[in-house]
Amino acid sequence: MSDIRYVAAESLDEAVKAMLAAGGQGKILAGGTDLLVQMRSGAQNPGTIVDVKKIDEVMQIVELPDGGFRIGAAVSGAVIGEHRKLAAAWPGVVEAVNLIGSKQVQGRASAGGNLCNSSPAADSVPALVAAGAKVVIQGPNGRREVPVEAFPTGPGRNCLAPGELVVSLTLPPRPPGSGDAYLRLIPRTEMDIAVVGVGVSLTLKDGVCTAARVGLGAVAPTVLLVEDAAKALIGSKLDDAALEKAAAACSAACKPINDKRGTIAYRTKIAGVLLKRATAIAARRATSNVPGGMH
Ligand SMILES: Cc1cc2nc3c(=O)[nH]c(=O)nc-3n(C[C@H](O)[C@H](O)[C@H](O)COP(=O)(O)OP(=O)(O)OC[C@H]3O[C@@H](n4cnc5c(N)ncnc54)[C@H](O)[C@@H]3O)c2cc1C
Repeated sequence: MSDIRYVAAESLDEAVKAMLAAGGQGKILAGGTDLLVQMRSGAQNPGTIVDVKKIDEVMQIVELPDGGFRIGAAVSGAVIGEHRKLAAAWPGVVEAVNLIGSKQVQGRASAGGNLCNSSPAADSVPALVAAGAKVVIQGPNGRREVPVEAFPTGPGRNCLAPGELVVSLTLPPRPPGSGDAYLRLIPRTEMDIAVVGVGVSLTLKDGVCTAARVGLGAVAPTVLLVEDAAKALIGSKLDDAALEKAAAACSAACKPINDKRGTIAYRTKIAGVLLKRATAIAARRATSNVPGGMH
């Protein structure tokens, strides 16, 4: 391994400048639970590492005046899990982040790192897609925002331009009667990569679903927003016919690969099964506003 320049940036400007100066050989360091493993295996060999954990904005969770939340890109899963208001408003997002790795990994791993690593199986991303999260990006030309589903562009690839980094993820305010949930299937009980992951967020009024979003992971080159599944839920009382239609839409959206964790047929079927289960949990939370549920 050749020499590596390590920069502990104290401001976003400093981080952007260091990334530009690295001329395409720079890597942002958040928790390092992907980056350091990849460097050790030789998959990554950055000339410069820009640590962003000294920058306040990327390390804070802020409740916004409109009732939404801004989660700093490098906030660890452990800190996210302990934020009671965030967990009450977005239990599905928090459970997705908290599924990443083990207790030790949770002490470091961030939602921003999970997103920027851009694995199609990243656990937090389907839940963030369902939540309608926006990604706040800072770069040489200032700040911009993209919907989270537009951020990954392929396995290990994303829409960040040279010098850009993710500052935070913004979650919108929650109307009353809203709930979300994330479920994944893994071959083991812990510490494995999702065969399928489904995030559902919905709002109920008098038992009728008035809004819904569905995020689907590990079944295509990027995490998907499944609009047809949401359409099948909206306007229904989440009856069996609506759930079947939404499940079929999820299965239809799948473009998975065969690998040792699951075949194409298996992943396609499981996507529909998890959609129904995650919808049931989200609906229960929407009516009771009680966080918790199956994993
Ligand atoms: C034992 C183990 C178990 C794991 N289990 C899971 C699991 O169950 N589910 C799962 O989804 N993942 C899992 N992972 C992968 C990893 O922990 C997660 O993807 C984690 O969220 C990465 O976050 P991080 O802060 O450690 O990112 P880092 O490793 O610091 O960064 C990851 C990548 O994103 C880039 N990056 C980070 N932050 C930014 C930013 N703000 N702006 C621009 N680029 C940035 C880095 O340059 C790097 O390329 C596991 C990893 C290990 C080692």
